[in-house]
Amino acid sequence: MRLSRYHSPTLREAPKEAELPSHLWLIRGGFIRQLSAGIYNLLPMGLRTVQKIEAIVREEMNRAGGHEVLMPAVQPAELWRESGRWEKYGPELQRFEDRKGNDYCLGPTHEEIIVDMARRDVRSYRQLPLNLYQIQSKFRDEIRPRGGLLRGREFIMKDAYSFDVNEEKAHESYQNMYDAYERIFARCGLEFRAVEADTGNIGGSLSHEFHVLADTGEDDIVACSSCHYAANVEKAGIGETPVGESTIPAAPPTVVETPGQKAVTDVAAFMGVDIKSVMKTLIVTLDDEPYAVVVRGDRELNPLKVRDALGAEVVELASEELVKEVTGAPVGFAGPIGLKIPVIVDHEVASMSSGVCGANQADAHYKFVAVDRDFKVHTVADIRLAQEGDACPMCGAISGRSGGSKLGMYSILERSIRSQWAVRFPTRMARPKPWLWDVMASVSRASWPPLSSRIMMRTVFVGRFLSHHFQ
Ligand SMILES: [Zn+2]
Repeated sequence: MRLSRYHSPTLREAPKEAELPSHLWLIRGGFIRQLSAGIYNLLPMGLRTVQKIEAIVREEMNRAGGHEVLMPAVQPAELWRESGRWEKYGPELQRFEDRKGNDYCLGPTHEEIIVDMARRDVRSYRQLPLNLYQIQSKFRDEIRPRGGLLRGREFIMKDAYSFDVNEEKAHESYQNMYDAYERIFARCGLEFRAVEADTGNIGGSLSHEFHVLADTGEDDIVACSSCHYAANVEKAGIGETPVGESTIPAAPPTVVETPGQKAVTDVAAFMGVDIKSVMKTLIVTLDDEPYAVVVRGDRELNPLKVRDALGAEVVELASEELVKEVTGAPVGFAGPIGLKIPVIVDHEVASMSSGVCGANQADAHYKFVAVDRDFKVHTVADIRLAQEGDACPMCGAISGRSGGSKLGMYSILERSIRSQWAVRFPTRMARPKPWLWDVMASVSRASWPPLSSRIMMRTVFVGRFLSHHFQ
C-alpha cells in the first residue's frame, strides 16, 4: 500500500488535555484518538505497535511454559461474591445488571474466572504446575483517567496465573515468570526495576511491581545506584547513615520564647540553629491510640513505617483537637518532653545529643534537649520517608529517587486462595494444596512508556516523521 493511502491522521497542535509527552505525540502522530474519558481508539499505527508488543509478550510467555486462553470481559457476580470482592472492590468495579436482573461486572482482573476455570478441570496434582495467561481488555472505572494510555479506564493487559502444588514450586514459577518479564521488557527496550510492593485488595504474601524509571511516572520510587534494590517510597528502607555532631552544646533544657514560630524552618532560623537539630514532633493515632512521633527537622515522617513498627492496622494524623488535648498547646508547638503518651523516635533523633523541640505551650520551644535524659523513648525505629541520597538498606550505596510507571506486577496469592477458594477444589487436590500466583503486565501501557525510555523515542520519531511527511 502507498503511504499516501495509509490512514494516519496527524495533528499540528497538541490537544489541551495532553500533558505528558507520550500522550501528546501519540495523538499528534495519529496513533490514538480519545473516544471518551480514559477510553481510546487505536488507529492503524497504534494497533500495529500494540500487536508487535503482544507478539513479544506471547513469545516469552510461551517460552516460559504458559498456555494462552481468552476469558470473557463480562463476568458473573457469583464468582466475585464467592471471593468476597464484589463488595470489597469499590467503585472501580463496573457493575451492571442484564435484562433478567442478574448481576455482572466488566472484568478489572480475572482471578475469580481463572480459579473457576482451573477447579473445574484440574483433577490431579499431576496436572500441575499449570500456567495460563491471556491478553485481553480490562475495564476499571478510574476516578481520574489521565496521561492518555498510561492511566486509561479500558486497557489491554496480559495476565498470567499459575497453579503449583506447594510453596517451593510456587516460588520456582515466580522466578520463571520474573525471568520472562526481564526478557519482555528488555526486548521492548525499557529500563525497569522490580520493586517490592503491597499486594493490594486481593491479599497475598509476596508481591513485586515492575516499573519503568521515568520522571513522568505516577509512582515515587527509590532505586539504588549500585545494587538491584528498589522500592516504592512508601516501603523504602534506609541504610545506616553517619550521624553528624550536634551544633548545639549540651546543657540543661531551657525554654525559649518563639512567638508565632510554628514551621520547622522558621523555628530553626529564629533560634539560630541548624534545621537538623530540630526534633520535629507530630501526634498520630495508631488504631485510635495517640502517640508522639519524632523525626529530624529536615525529614518527613513515613506514617506507614510507624504503623508497621508498632504492628498497628491504621495510622492517622491526630486532629487539631487531639493535639491540643495531648500536648496542651496549639498545633506547631508539640515536643516530646512531659507528654503522657508513648514517644516513638527515628534512629537519627535517637542519636541526637542536643536538640530543639516544641515546649508544649504556645509560642515556646525547648533548647538543649537530650533524648533519654529529658524524655522517655517508647520505640526507636526507621520511621522517616526515604530521600534522594540516603544509604541503600541492602548495600549502603547512595539511593536515587525517581518517578516510576508501573508496567507489570506479580504476587503470590496463597493466603487468599486457601481461605476463599481452595475449598472448592476436588478433595483429591486437598493435599497438597494448590498455590496460585498471578502476574499482570499492561500491554497498552507498554506501548506508550514515558519519554525517557527508548521505545518511546522510536514512537516519537515515527510520529514526527509522519507529521513532517504529511504536512
Ligand atoms: Zn544497594
